[in-house]
Amino acid sequence: MQKTRVKVIGGGLAGCEAALQLASYGFLIDLYEMRPKVNTPAHRGGDLAQLVCSNSFKGIAKTTAHGLLKNELTLLGSFLIELAKEAQVPAGESLTVNREIFSALVEKKILECPAITLHREEVTSLEDDLPTLVAAGPLASESLTNSIFKSLGSERLHFFDAIAPVVEADSIDFNHAFYMNRWEKGETADFINCPLDKETYNAFVEKLREADSVEPRPFEKNELFEGCLPIEEMARRGTETLRYGPMRPIGLGFGNEGKKWHAVIQLRAENAQKTLFNMVGFQTRLKWNTQKELFAMVPALKNARFARLGCMHRNTFIESPKLLEPTLQLKRGLPGCEKFPPIWFAGQITGAEGYTEAVATGWYAAWNMACSLKHGVPQLLPKESCIRSLVDQLVSPNPDFQPMNFNFGLLPHLIEMKKKNKKEILGNQAEEAVLEWIRKKTVLEN
Ligand SMILES: Cc1cc2nc3c(=O)[nH]c(=O)nc-3n(C[C@H](O)[C@H](O)[C@H](O)COP(=O)(O)OP(=O)(O)OC[C@H]3O[C@@H](n4cnc5c(N)ncnc54)[C@H](O)[C@@H]3O)c2cc1C
Repeated sequence: MQKTRVKVIGGGLAGCEAALQLASYGFLIDLYEMRPKVNTPAHRGGDLAQLVCSNSFKGIAKTTAHGLLKNELTLLGSFLIELAKEAQVPAGESLTVNREIFSALVEKKILECPAITLHREEVTSLEDDLPTLVAAGPLASESLTNSIFKSLGSERLHFFDAIAPVVEADSIDFNHAFYMNRWEKGETADFINCPLDKETYNAFVEKLREADSVEPRPFEKNELFEGCLPIEEMARRGTETLRYGPMRPIGLGFGNEGKKWHAVIQLRAENAQKTLFNMVGFQTRLKWNTQKELFAMVPALKNARFARLGCMHRNTFIESPKLLEPTLQLKRGLPGCEKFPPIWFAGQITGAEGYTEAVATGWYAAWNMACSLKHGVPQLLPKESCIRSLVDQLVSPNPDFQPMNFNFGLLPHLIEMKKKNKKEILGNQAEEAVLEWIRKKTVLEN
């Protein structure tokens, strides 16, 4: 039987997962990635599935939301989660990767897949004859976003996201830093901790409050993502805010005088050689000189060299509640979309915030696209599952729609439960429902 050809726009996390899944369902895929010819403000070079900021897919324990989501993706045969495990670097209880190795593994898998043709080209419009999956990400190119928003007729939505700095390990002063995982979890100590005493912390916060940021343009104001606030914004909310956030000292032992540390900056390994470390939760849009001056106040970072300093970026998403079906397919018959082929959306552009969420929606959109093109009917995941709960939040009516990470609050609370083991019950409920769905689903022949 002749194979159906489809198009995937974006060789990021969602697009690569989707392309590999579609290939496994027997489609021929034209995968378009515009980099390195056309770049984005955050990506560097042409790597596929590039992690633009942190190098972590977050927790692995099934009692954490991201652990549960990753477990579900593993049960469903996600290619990217499998490759992330191959590229893993030690980082306590999380799936953290060497980003170059991870991208190289994904690219190898894509290039070795005979059903996928990789085009290093920008797509500027959705008009086409091929069924299309759009996974162009939060930094989708200007011409494509203009074309999408013009056609869909809805307001362009965006907020602003920040990136954390990366430090060169051999420039850290270990007279003032130590290796330890919070609560000593994990077999090896993977985090470098840079403590600050009370006086230094207060001076640090004071300077942070007064520091020069890269001025957002007027329309950018108040568009920060609450889950990824820059440190200067946190400092403005109160002297103690950072001590309860990224600089919290709990679970990190005691200082020389036997007292708990006042505040600690944690650094997480970027690569297996542990030559580069990411400042955890330290996203910032301060001017680069100001960042250097500020971090020099931290004793361990007095002479630190930075492989990358923090910066801030646009983050674009569509109004999914108005535009998308529960399958992540663009609603048919929308005015202005007459020339479009059937279209599915996946990744951050749908408002699913986060790396694992991008992989999850990539998997989900590809599955629904395949079911629809092969059998004309969708086969939705059960409502108890993590991915379906995440998608339901994206497509439910919501006049104040904003991107969101997956969290336990999204899972349907079907049974009466005690607070103590709520997460465990919700997790088991999700896992059992997915296993049952896998047993019953129609197999899509390759
Ligand atoms: C600055 C920033 C920092 C972030 N930091 C984190 C973080 O630390 N942790 C986290 O969990 N999430 C983070 N996110 C959120 C989100 O999880 C990531 O952006 C994630 O990579 C989204 O996956 P994606 O597949 O949707 O998009 P991407 O991974 O960005 O992939 C989209 C791809 O499409 C390509 N593309 C764009 N337009 C076109 C076009 N017209 N034609 C062809 N190709 C095109 C791009 O080059 C890109 O490779 C961050 C987002 C931003 C913007």
